[in-house]
Amino acid sequence: MTPEEREALARARARLNLLDLYPRPVRIDRVRVFTVPLFFKLPRLRRYAGYALWRTILLRRPPGRGSGDDLVTHELCHIWQMQNRPFDVILKFLTTRYRRNPYEREARRAVEETRAC
Ligand SMILES: [Zn+2]
Repeated sequence: MTPEEREALARARARLNLLDLYPRPVRIDRVRVFTVPLFFKLPRLRRYAGYALWRTILLRRPPGRGSGDDLVTHELCHIWQMQNRPFDVILKFLTTRYRRNPYEREARRAVEETRAC
C-alpha cells in the first residue's frame, strides 16, 4: 500500500469509530487498499469508483481527501458489515437491488453522518 492509501484507510476508520453500528469497532489490521483502474474496466464494474472485497478495498483512482475519503469510508463500512454479519451481507448483495440494499443504505448514511469530521 502507498502512504496515501494507508492514511486514507486510517481516516476512514476514525470516521467509522464515531458510529456505533456494530458492537465492536471496525478492524483494519488486515485490510488492504489497492488502486487498480483496470479492474473497473470490467463490464459490470464500470459504474463503480470503489469496491470492497473480504479484506480488500479496490479503488479506481488513488485516494485523496474529500470525495476520496468518502469513498474509502463507504467501502470500509462494507468491510465492517462483513466482519459482523458475513452471511447476511452476502445474501443481501445477491438478492437485493443495489439502491434498496440495507447495507448500501447504511454505508451511505455512515458517510453522511461523519462527513463534517
Ligand atoms: Zn456500497
